[in-house]
Parts: sequence; C-alpha cells; structure tokens
Amino acid sequence: MLGAVKLLGTEEITLWKASGRVLGADLIAPESVPPFANSAMDGFAVRGEDVSKPGRTLEIVGDLPAGSAPTVEVGSGEAVRIMTGAPMPVGADTVVKVEDTDAANGTVRVLPIVAKGTAVRALGGDVAEGQLVFAQGTMLTPMHIGVLANLGISNPPVFRRPRVAFMSTGDELMAVDGGRLGPGMIRDSNRPMLKALLEDAGAELMDMGIVPDDQVALRSALDAGSQCDAIVTTGGVSMGDYDVTKLVLADDAGVDFWKIAIQPAKPFAFGHIGASLFFGLPGNPVSALVSFEQFVRPALLSMQGARHVLRPQVGAIAAENLVSDPAKTVFLRVAITGRREGIPIVAESGGQSSNVLTAAADADAFAVVPAGVGTVAAGDHVTIELFRAPASREYQNGK
Ligand code: AMP
Ligand code: MG
Repeated sequence: MLGAVKLLGTEEITLWKASGRVLGADLIAPESVPPFANSAMDGFAVRGEDVSKPGRTLEIVGDLPAGSAPTVEVGSGEAVRIMTGAPMPVGADTVVKVEDTDAANGTVRVLPIVAKGTAVRALGGDVAEGQLVFAQGTMLTPMHIGVLANLGISNPPVFRRPRVAFMSTGDELMAVDGGRLGPGMIRDSNRPMLKALLEDAGAELMDMGIVPDDQVALRSALDAGSQCDAIVTTGGVSMGDYDVTKLVLADDAGVDFWKIAIQPAKPFAFGHIGASLFFGLPGNPVSALVSFEQFVRPALLSMQGARHVLRPQVGAIAAENLVSDPAKTVFLRVAITGRREGIPIVAESGGQSSNVLTAAADADAFAVVPAGVGTVAAGDHVTIELFRAPASREYQNGK
C-alpha cells in the first residue's frame, strides 16, 4: 500500500498553523541562534583571567540591559554590569552571576573563582547559520514552530494535506443527529470516529454521509469521491448478500479485495478509483478503527511526506492471560494499568468483540500478538502499539 502512495505537492503555511504538518524541504538555517554571544545570567561581564583567583575587585565601566548594544569594552581589571540575554561586550568572555558579587561605589568584588567562559551563551550555540536544522519529512510540533520563529521563518514549506472523501455504507445506519432509531436501525458511529481520525492524520475532509446498500447510489458516491486524493468507506466488504461495496467494485480492475491475516479487520479492500486511493474498511467499528490505524493513517502520512508513519511500539508485560488467535496477528485493546521497573503492565480494556467500541475508547494501546501465539500468559512480555498518549495514572485531578 505504501508503495502505491504518491507524494503530494508542497505549499507555504503561516508559521503558527504548521503544527501537525510535515516539513516540505530540508531546512537550512538562514541565521544563527543565538544571533550573538550573550549572558546566561544577571551579573557582571569580565575577563576570565581577572577572576581566576577569589576576591578580586574590578572597576564597573558600563551597564548592559537586554536589547541594548554594547558600547564599552571590558579591559583588564574592569567589569560591565550585564543582564540575562544582553550581548557580551568586547573583551569579556565570562559572566559572574550577581549572587557571587558585592558591588559598591563603582566597583565590584568577585567572591569565588569563576572559570573562563562561565554563563556565556555562544553565538550559534543552538543553531549555526548554514546548518541543516530539520530534514524534509519532519512532523512539525509546537517546539519546531518555536525553532522556526527563532530562525525568522514565518512561512515554512509543508506538504499539502490530502483531501479525503469518506462515507459509511449500510441500510441499518442512522446519523447521530438523525432522530430516534427505528426497528433494526443502529447509529452510524464509524463516520464521526473516522472524521476525527482523518483530521488527526492531517486530512482535509469531504463527508459523503451514509450511503444506502444500493449499487447505483454507492457507485455515484464513489465517483464523486474520486476527485479527492483518497476515498475511505466502511462496511460492505465481507461475504454477506448485501455487501454492496464488494458488489460494486468486484469488477473494478483498480481495487483488490483482500483477506488480511489480522484480527479484527480481516476483510479489507484497497486500490485506486480513478486517481484516488481507495480504502474499504470493514463495518464493525473496532475493525474500522484497527484497519484505519494499520493501513489508512500510515498511507495518509506517507502522502504528506512524513518520514515516520507508524505508531511507536514498545515492550509491555501482560497483567492477565491474553487470549489470541494463532492463525492471525491480533490487535487487542489494552490499557496500561501500572509499571514494573518502568515497563508498562497492560490488561484488556474491555470486551474484545469487534463491535465493542468502549474498550477501544478506554484503551491506551493495541497489544500486538503475532501469528503463531495462542495465549500470552500473565507475566509474559507482549508488544504494545501506543495509539494515544497514555493517561497519567499517577495523578488524577480532584483526588
Ligand atoms: P458490514 O461489513 O457492512 O456487514 O458491517 C458489519 C457490522 O458492522 C454490522 O453489524 C454493521 O451493522 C456494523 N456497521 C457497519 N457500518 C457501521 C457504522 N458506520 N457504524 C456502526 N456500525 C456499523
Ligand atoms: Mg453493511
């Protein structure tokens, strides 16, 4: 699937909106940070050799608040009063913090020995002009935005967001705001969940609503969606008589119906409709979630040029027996319940049927149990894939 992904183009974006976007080019520093050597402390700028012995008294020859340019030089036996962030005056190479001094009548006594270079932030000590700061493909965070601001970059290049058409299929589905459920009807939980998942993966959304189990209606929805970079559907990909996604696309040369040896989400369809990538997710909500996480999200991040497209996997310890299916890679919904020597301990966060969405909402991770393993015994190691930042269980507000 990742091999079928085509990289989107780039655009420039207002800096503060760039969090969650992928850097579109290697970023070479146009200037140095800090732009000049400056003081890390409030104190006195001095010559290192003047403070290599304790108790020296120096003459104060100037005053340097932050934001001012030095006008005086620091000669032998001299000091300039300096504030944090102010540029180092010529001649000085060391700052003595104010707590280590006694100043009176135009002189300052430096109490301890201070090593040459102390409390000076070098020009370019964070970023040197001309260096590669961040490589193309870096997912930008608020911290990257701060660094870019430091460098004077107000409109960084980022990859375009993929436009994604998405729809639920099924005659039994009623929209969340569609009123009372009639007989045999259920709420369409997939589409609002997908909407949030897609947005979180950087997509621009085209919500095609609920499409009935009708071949003509589905065909026209898919055709309309094919103007987008990707189409995501849920439902209708398995073996039932009304699985219209399968019926409509069975003869489409661009789409393959797969059976993937995973649980949940065994039935899954992937391919192209026109120039658009097509992802046919199973209808059960947990299956839709798992296949989104495993296949759709990495593909969308890959379209946006991200270098890292997979969720982090770490080692964990099972708190209880985790029953799996040795024929498949199984993604169990688990919560982190504690730690042993820093390693997370996990337990099932609820029922593991593919319709039980509450267990996914209460989960921190998928326990990824590989094919060939029937049961992970309590106390054994298991790999977990973190799909959200785990809640802190050390401190709970209000307790
Ligand atoms: P399907 O793959 O269409 O046979 O659907 C499998 C199961 O998922 C059925 O129980 C459906 O009712 C259910 N389902 C399908 N689509 C949705 C949806 N959008 N929201 C909630 N449940 C769904
Ligand atoms: Mg269906």
